[in-house]
This record gives sequence, C-alpha cells and structure tokens, in this order.
Amino acid sequence: MLGCVIHGPGDLRVAELPTPEPGPGEALVAVRYGGVCGSDLHYWRHGGVGDFLLEEPMVLGHEVVGTVLGYGSPDASGPAVGTAVAVHPATPCGVCPECADGRRNICRDTRYLGSAARFPHVQGGFAARVVVPADQLRPLPAGLALRRAALAEPLSVALHAVRRAGQVAGKHVLVTGAGPIGCLVVAAAKAAGAAQVTVTDLLPAALRYATAAGADTVVRADDPSDPGWPAEADVAVEASGVAAGLETCLRLVRRGGVVVQLGMLPPGQSPFAGNLVVSREIELRGAFRFDTEFDDALELLAAEPAFDGLVSAVVPLREAESAFALAADRGRSCKVLLDFAS
Ligand code: ZN
Repeated sequence: MLGCVIHGPGDLRVAELPTPEPGPGEALVAVRYGGVCGSDLHYWRHGGVGDFLLEEPMVLGHEVVGTVLGYGSPDASGPAVGTAVAVHPATPCGVCPECADGRRNICRDTRYLGSAARFPHVQGGFAARVVVPADQLRPLPAGLALRRAALAEPLSVALHAVRRAGQVAGKHVLVTGAGPIGCLVVAAAKAAGAAQVTVTDLLPAALRYATAAGADTVVRADDPSDPGWPAEADVAVEASGVAAGLETCLRLVRRGGVVVQLGMLPPGQSPFAGNLVVSREIELRGAFRFDTEFDDALELLAAEPAFDGLVSAVVPLREAESAFALAADRGRSCKVLLDFAS
C-alpha cells in the first residue's frame, strides 16, 4: 500500500509501505480521505511542530475517514465491515491523573495518530490502510458523506476551544487567524450561540472562508484603520499560532474576559503581554486537541451542508507534495484533503 511519510524538513515521500495487520481489539480501515493539518505542514516545513521534533520517519496524518475492512479478533466490537467511519485519533492511557480527572485530551501518556510527541513516534493515517483500536471508530451519522466528515477532527479541536472559553451564548467572540481551524472556531462559536463573531487575518482569501463559516465581521490584521476592529470582545480565541495574535486577543478582550490559546506558537519562548493578564484579570486558558467533542462534531457536520465550502481541494495521494504546498498557501486554500482511493 502507499503512504505519505515525512523524513525531515522538506522531505515528504509517497512510498510503498507494508499493509498493517490488526491485532486483538483493533480494526483495519481503508482510508478514503485525510485532511492536511497545520501540524502536518509544520512537520513538512520545519521537521517539527511546537516543541515536538521529528526523530525518525513518520507516516503523517490524523484527520482520517474511510470504511471498515475488518477486525483483528472475532470479539472486537465495532461498526460492521463496509461501514463508513471517522477515526478518533487519540488513544489516552485511561489511568493517569488527567484521564482519571476526565481530561483525556491532556493525558500524559496518550498516543495520537501521526504525532512525534512521543518516541517511537505514533505512525499516522495518511496511508491506504490504517490500524486503530476498534473503539476509536465512529460510524457516520445518516446523510454525512465521507468528504465532509473529514472535517470532524479539526472541528472537534474548534469545539473544544469554544468549550474551554466557557459560556459564549449571546457574547461577542474574537478569533485571531482565519485558517481552517480559525474558520471552524467561527462555526463552533456560532453553533454555541455566540451573538457576534469577529475574525482577524492578514489574507483577504482567508477572511472570505471565515465569512463562509459564519463570521459576522472580518478584519485585516495589518490594517489599524479597518472599521471592523471591535472596541472589545467578551471572549477571544487565538487560532493564528503567532505571538501577534495573542497580543491582539489580550488587548481586545474585555476586562475579566477569557482568552483561549489554541494555535501552537513557534518553538520555545514567545513574547507575551503578561501585564494585561494582571491588570485586567484576563483568564488565559490553553486548548489542546479534544475528547468527546468528536461525536458532537460529526452531528454538527451532518446537520450543516455549508461546511462543504471549507474543503477547498481534494488531491490524489500521489500528488501529496503539491497538496501540502496548496494547503500551505492560505491565499489559495482552506482545508485540503488527500484522496487515498484515487
Ligand atoms: Zn492518561
């Protein structure tokens, strides 16, 4: 089978790989689509994401949908063979203090598809076949096609970030960064009842996707005279992954408001307007991955055809490198999917 393997910065290869065999409790999935994530792009361009560095070749990909091919043991319970499924990419340990506390997304010993956070790295799902624990399969709700379902993982990330913000119903939410995650935060905030969502980005094309996702106001981040800048927001979600975005959130959130840092900042230290946190009693919260939001994401996707507009291209696996280049060019793309059946 073919898979998409990162060997180091700029060294992405579509290569023949051994077809994996499911063990007890595991399922074999024929992958149909895989969404290219910002973290996949970081591995490709820089050989790491945040503070997680590539130390061995790794199959990328954690936004994966497909159909069930079989199970490794007759007693593995899961959707019937042939069922269309989305793959929850996390395997939390279930026993650490965070898992015991119901916060499995920050499990200290989790395995996450296509992540170099631990060594040996957890190989990902950008391959024609992937083996995962059977209990990580989710059958798609009625009416949800695989193509739109490929947004389930990033939408789960967005839903978790909005949940971390607390109550957003009736509130003004500011989102910095209109990449795929920022756009999905917009959709998640609107679904949670936000009265107004304002989005900032440098690129007009990205802001058009944010509007399609439901943003009420879009702002050019590099234009201080843009009339869309709010006086203040109740809640801010930082989804650009740059320090300037965090500064914008801290500067514009109201006194006593909540800022959620969702974007992964560059490795190491980032400048930080800490005195604003003090003098305005801003609550700064991190948001990392997700847990049960995956099921909510599938329901939301099934109910809302407009999500289709955020999938800007579907590219055959053999053209993975051009798919990555397209996904990295936010002037030309929102979410780019790799097609493993072509
Ligand atoms: Zn754990």
